[in-house]
Amino acid sequence: MTNSALMATYSPPEVIFEYGKGSYLYSKSGEKFLDFISGIAVTGFGHAHPHLVQTLQEQASKYWHSSNMFRVEAGEILAQRLVKHSFADQVFFGNSGAEAVEAGLKMMRRYHFDNGNPERYRIIGMNNSFHGRTLATIAAAGNPSHTKGFFKGDMGFDHVPFGDIEKLEAAITNETAGIILEPVQGEGGVLPAPDGYLKQVRTLCDQHGILLMVDEIQCGMGRTGKLFAYEWADIIPDILASAKGLGGGFPIGACLASQKVADCMVVGTHGSTFGGNPLATAVGNAVLDLMLEDGFLETVQTHAKTLWNGLEDIQKLHPELITNVQGKGLMLGLKCTISNAELISNLRENYLLAGRAGSDILRLLPPLNLSDSEIDEALSILDKTLKSIAG
Ligand SMILES: *Cc1c(COP(=O)(O)O)cnc(C)c1O
Repeated sequence: MTNSALMATYSPPEVIFEYGKGSYLYSKSGEKFLDFISGIAVTGFGHAHPHLVQTLQEQASKYWHSSNMFRVEAGEILAQRLVKHSFADQVFFGNSGAEAVEAGLKMMRRYHFDNGNPERYRIIGMNNSFHGRTLATIAAAGNPSHTKGFFKGDMGFDHVPFGDIEKLEAAITNETAGIILEPVQGEGGVLPAPDGYLKQVRTLCDQHGILLMVDEIQCGMGRTGKLFAYEWADIIPDILASAKGLGGGFPIGACLASQKVADCMVVGTHGSTFGGNPLATAVGNAVLDLMLEDGFLETVQTHAKTLWNGLEDIQKLHPELITNVQGKGLMLGLKCTISNAELISNLRENYLLAGRAGSDILRLLPPLNLSDSEIDEALSILDKTLKSIAG
């Protein structure tokens, strides 16, 4: 690799981008790419959106940081808006998805501790899930390729197959504090929870007095056509982790909680130097300005339908290469019989940026504000690329 001073935790292709505009990224050598991965569901309003750029520039010229020793007005407003548009009563801000999950995991344990049940510390996660790369979040997801060599024992986490309510019920003990799951699994393979599953999980949690935490870092913030994906399932979680799309590209994470859970997080229980800083929360507010505009989420749903139909047509044209279309909203996966890594690199040669998920899924996470013509362009690049692979 050329970048020998960077640890080898990633293996990016050679291309270096110079700037972006809307749904496109432009390389230093002048190539133009249609960005259908959005920095992994982060740049939901594309690149260099004027409202986001202006907000960041304005805040940058005022002040950047004061720490949580002082009130941050933009953070108070952003928390208020997230609360207004969700189940939650209070919000904790961090800088990333993993931190949002960590905060929620701590809350689950602290809730039972404060309520006289300190023995309730274990948390049940789902197979094939992803919650970040810190020690607790890799333990929560339990993916052996992420945990290998990093800790001994189970760190207080149990795991069950995603979607199997009987196995979940069997895993609950009098030491269980709560359950963490992604309403639509992202890294694991762009897989929505089966119909009715989240409702059953909610019922189980109520029966056993345990907490339900949803990780909406990838599937939240408008990605599925609702502000949060749990809304589709008609349930109320106790805790929700958000990040990625919340900052539109500026690092921010948020852990949302109901009052009874938030009540445990008193002075001294948790903190973050950068969390909720003026730059991040100003941009978060600007993202919400766009997301909550009348009709925006409905347009996401319409575009999602158009893209889904187009992908199904392509699947039918190339059934030997693509065997399934899956996902929800603008969080879509194509199940491939060929290597997903190779397909991604072929698509990039044809100027479409996509990602992978699981072992055999091509992942598409286009900007939420994309146009019909960009959908057509992506579909035609996909068709052309599959044709050339089929030979
Ligand atoms: C990306 C992601 C995370 C981790 O977010 P980071 O910002 O990388 O720490 C956690 N959960 C889900 C579902 C994610 O997609």
